Amino acid sequence: MEKDSRIFVACHETMIGAAILRRLRVDDFGNVLTIPISSGDLTDQKMVAKFFMEERPEYVFLPSAKVGGILANSRYPAEFIYTNIQSQTNVVHAAWRAGVKKLLFFASSCVYPKSCPQPMRENSLLTGKLEPTNEPYAIAKIAGIEMCQSYNRQYSANFISVVPADVYGPADDFNPETGHVLAALIAKTHRAKTLREPEVVVWGTGSPRRECLHVDDLADACLFLMNSYDSPELINIGSGEDIPISEMAKLIVRIAGFEGKLVFDHSKPDGMPRKLLDTTRLKALGWSPKISLEDGIRKTYEWFTLHGTERKTHSAESTGRIGSASVGHAP
Ligand code: GDP
Repeated sequence: MEKDSRIFVACHETMIGAAILRRLRVDDFGNVLTIPISSGDLTDQKMVAKFFMEERPEYVFLPSAKVGGILANSRYPAEFIYTNIQSQTNVVHAAWRAGVKKLLFFASSCVYPKSCPQPMRENSLLTGKLEPTNEPYAIAKIAGIEMCQSYNRQYSANFISVVPADVYGPADDFNPETGHVLAALIAKTHRAKTLREPEVVVWGTGSPRRECLHVDDLADACLFLMNSYDSPELINIGSGEDIPISEMAKLIVRIAGFEGKLVFDHSKPDGMPRKLLDTTRLKALGWSPKISLEDGIRKTYEWFTLHGTERKTHSAESTGRIGSASVGHAP
């Protein structure tokens, strides 16, 4: 990507989209496009096709349109599969028709089978049954990977797919009902501390292990890959370390300075027992993460205490000048 390349960041109001925008801005990319929420969402095929034909982006970052934690996935399976399949299909197809030079599609570590050997290698895709708690979302993501690969094969497109570990950071979904574990536990712990409650409830047994990746590290890796990786093969992006949920909860409690106790609610699901990515492929290209889990949680906790649950902070900032009725040029 050149500094004046036309770069479209889809779903810029999501945590990942916002992080990509922040990073592009820091690196002085001057021609970054977004679609303001007021223009509609990416499930609108006509709007997406028109946007690509008029704006002619050269590079595209395509994060998920709808994400959520274990409970949200089981409560809203239809929304997860519909919103993601529909929006990614619209964007990938429109990107091809508009001659986009390169597109980066965000998959998810839940695309790998439930009983996948750990750490999970890219070639484990489609080798076994999926974890049922997020199967509709995982199938949407697998469809996206397959779509990118098919457009590469049939049309010689350059659409790459990355598989990030569980991402966290500023503008995460801190709603305990819908968010992922790290953000949910930050919010619950802060609330318990502020209201002087005696305990924080952690769902499940606390034994599942998760690999967490700070969203700024993810953005760094994605810019790196946009400039250096042209293979149709999947590529994992992880921190290389996982941690049991019980340890994660203890770390958050220590960072927040909460003095009550942790209680485990065994009536809630554990989901995948472990999700650690094998990052050999990415490391061989020369990328490694820079933000430790402890520093990342500290920064995220600080962000949460300042911003609370307002998820739109970054999109409001980033939408900036409006180039036309349907396009926002990020500053
Ligand atoms: P997953 O990685 O797709 O399973 O989704 P989550 O991040 O939502 O959950 C990861 C693990 O953390 C599961 O075992 C959850 O039961 C557990 N967990 C513990 N406390 C919480 C919580 O407050 N919220 C969420 N979302 N998960 C929690």
